[in-house]
Amino acid sequence: MSRQGNVYIFLGPPGSGKGSLSNICVTDLGWLQLSTGNLCREHIAKQTEIGKQIDFAIKSGRLVTDNLIVEMVDKWLEECFATKENVILDGFPRTVPQARALEALLCNRFNFVRTSNVKLLIEDDEVVARLMGRYICSNDKCQAVFSLIDGSGLKPKRHMFCDACSAALVRRSDDTEESIRERLKAYHQHEDKLLDFYKDQGQEIIELDAHRPLNMVFEEFKGRLGLKGV
Ligand code: AMP
Repeated sequence: MSRQGNVYIFLGPPGSGKGSLSNICVTDLGWLQLSTGNLCREHIAKQTEIGKQIDFAIKSGRLVTDNLIVEMVDKWLEECFATKENVILDGFPRTVPQARALEALLCNRFNFVRTSNVKLLIEDDEVVARLMGRYICSNDKCQAVFSLIDGSGLKPKRHMFCDACSAALVRRSDDTEESIRERLKAYHQHEDKLLDFYKDQGQEIIELDAHRPLNMVFEEFKGRLGLKGV
C-alpha cells in the first residue's frame, strides 16, 4: 500500500487556541503536534546553543530567524513520520520564507503528505485578555496550557498544578502585556502575505471562529475536515 500522511497547518494569532486545539487532536485523535514555540522553550530550558541564541527574541516577543526554525522542523518531521500519519504544525509557518521552505521539504522528502490549512479567528483584545490569564506546565516536556480565567474550560483541576503530569504551573516569560502586543504586531506583519501565499496556490484556508468553547471549535474542525466519526 502506498504511504499516506496529513499535515494540518494551524494558523492564527498567539492566544487564538492553536495549542489547545492541537492538544485535543493529540488526546482524542492520536495525532502528533509540533509547536515550534514549545520546541524553542525546550531549547531555552536546556540551555542549548540554539536556546542561548533565541532567548532574547522569545522574551521580547520577536520572531526567531527562519533558518533556525526551519532546521528544527526539518529534524522533527523526519522523526514523526517514522511513527505517525497525522501531524499538526502549531505556529509554523509564520512567514512566507518558512512556508516556502516547508513546501520544498514536503515536496522533496515527504511527497506522500497532503496539507490542510486551518485558521483560528479572534480579535486582538481577546487575545490579550486570554494570554494574561494563561498558565503553562513548568515541565518542559509537557508545557500543557491552562487558564485561570473564570468560566474557562481550561481551568486546572488542582489549582496551579498540571492535570497531565502534576508539575507546577507557571506564567510564560513572554506573557506580559508588552510582549503580547509585540507578538501580535509580528503576527499581523506577516499574516496577509502568508495567507496570500496559500491562496495564490489555490489552497483552501478553513476558518474557524475561535471565540467559542474549545469543544465547539473541535467539533466544527472535525466537521469541516470530514473527520466526523473518527
Ligand atoms: P508560541 O508558543 O507559538 O506563541 O511561540 C512563542 C515564540 O516562539 C514566538 O513569539 C517566537 O519568538 C518563537 N517562535 C515560535 N514559532 C516560530 C516561528 N514559526 N517563527 C519564528 N519564531 C517562532
